Amino acid sequence: MGPLQIKDILQTSPENQSVTVKGWVRTKRESKNAIFIALNDGSTIHNIQAVAEPGQFSAELLSTVTTGSCLKITGQLVESQGSGQAVEVKIDDILVYGTADPESFPLQPKKHSLEFLREIAHLRPRTNTFSAILRIRHALAFAVHQYFNDGGFFYLHTPVITASDAEGAGEMFRVTTLDLNKLPRTEEGAINFKEDFFGREANLTVSGQLEGELGAMALSKIYTFGPTFRAENSNTTRHLAEFWMIEPEMAFFELEDNMNLAEDFVKKVITYALIHCKDDLNFLQNRLAEEDKNKPQNERSIPLLEKLSFVVDNPFERLTYTEAIEILLKSKPHKEKKFQYPVGWGIDLSSEHERYLVEKHFKKPVILTNYPKEIKSFYMKLDEDGKTVRAMDVLFPGIGEIIGGSQREEDYDKLLGRVKEVGIDPENLWWYLETRKFGTAPHSGFGLGFERLVLFVTGMSNIRDVIPFPRYPKSAEF
Ligand code: ATP
Ligand code: MN
Repeated sequence: MGPLQIKDILQTSPENQSVTVKGWVRTKRESKNAIFIALNDGSTIHNIQAVAEPGQFSAELLSTVTTGSCLKITGQLVESQGSGQAVEVKIDDILVYGTADPESFPLQPKKHSLEFLREIAHLRPRTNTFSAILRIRHALAFAVHQYFNDGGFFYLHTPVITASDAEGAGEMFRVTTLDLNKLPRTEEGAINFKEDFFGREANLTVSGQLEGELGAMALSKIYTFGPTFRAENSNTTRHLAEFWMIEPEMAFFELEDNMNLAEDFVKKVITYALIHCKDDLNFLQNRLAEEDKNKPQNERSIPLLEKLSFVVDNPFERLTYTEAIEILLKSKPHKEKKFQYPVGWGIDLSSEHERYLVEKHFKKPVILTNYPKEIKSFYMKLDEDGKTVRAMDVLFPGIGEIIGGSQREEDYDKLLGRVKEVGIDPENLWWYLETRKFGTAPHSGFGLGFERLVLFVTGMSNIRDVIPFPRYPKSAEF
């Protein structure tokens, strides 16, 4: 499995055994009696301290050991003389793999703003904050697969390129091989997509759900976990143009089962992170506390670990959209006209409304159900009243919508009616509609934006900081 990583070496009991450590220099400190090098290889938030004697190495060599340079150090693992670490490496030899000129290396051992770090996304994984986020992101992804695998779900790979532009979840990115300078035209003068690669218009997927449903009608329980694209020009802290979505789809699940699954699922993956990412979460918690120091007492956030444990330990509040509107109409910000957007039955809740319910009124995650059909997708099952649909959105503090899901319409005629009502050509969805003709079944599913989950667990405030290389309007540099 290759050389020992710093994470493992830090756990080893020091018996003057010889060790090799490889990693990037975080800091170098020289005192009268010793030279201290803090080395990190990304396997853990913790650095290993390597110590040399003054005069042991030439000034020329030491001048290349600077923040950001990459080293191989061999030496002996000994009990640390100083406080702060149990073990350290008494250096015998240093090999410099790669230098990092301090004049031009942008990551110096001081606090950099997150905005600045976004501009150097090729280097930011080498900071404590981003390496912690990336390790937590990994752990959450692993927990997602583990949760579904243990629950009898099958991982279904739905296509990234799709010709069904009918889902209506968001603006799409076009996929084409046509020469944009010489577009083929039909006799009527329209672009002739028959000559395009797929012989039709194609786009990047906005959701794997429709194909996911096809899988559920055969394997009963499936989930997708893949990249998803939305060309919405929303420059918010909660939207990316490319993000990862997790979409379970289950035959024989009704809305209630769907809600139970969604709640249990988020709680279990957060619990996984609480158990397996303690050091990184602690680091991020301290980082947030540090930021909060400058804020007035009433604006300080609750400590990260406390917030996560609270979500895991308490049942989510469940209520209908109609009940939520009643609460909003009676709310102080509504009465004092503090909401930017008006409140009334039929509105698409904006994030200020969602956050009022979650953060001010209930002070815990909320699942809203039975939304008006007009503001939800065509595939959601109609309620008996014909006005609302069996939708469920899970709303989280600081985030707003983290999950959107529903029980799906399984009745062929009703679904076809809705397809036509919203102006989709049924021809485009013939294969989707056929599942309702051949052995239809009640079924449900939901979509969780993976980055919104990572945002919540890490306590970060901008979604661009929880994906390694974010894509958003005017930005695809790295
Ligand atoms: P929102 O109203 O927040 O824009 P949505 O209702 O358009 O979200 P859905 O189509 O329901 O989103 O997608 C399911 C989930 O995918 C959302 O609950 C959210 O977690 C996530 N999601 C949606 N759009 C984005 C995006 N642009 N970037 C990151 N995550 C997203
Ligand atoms: Mn939604």
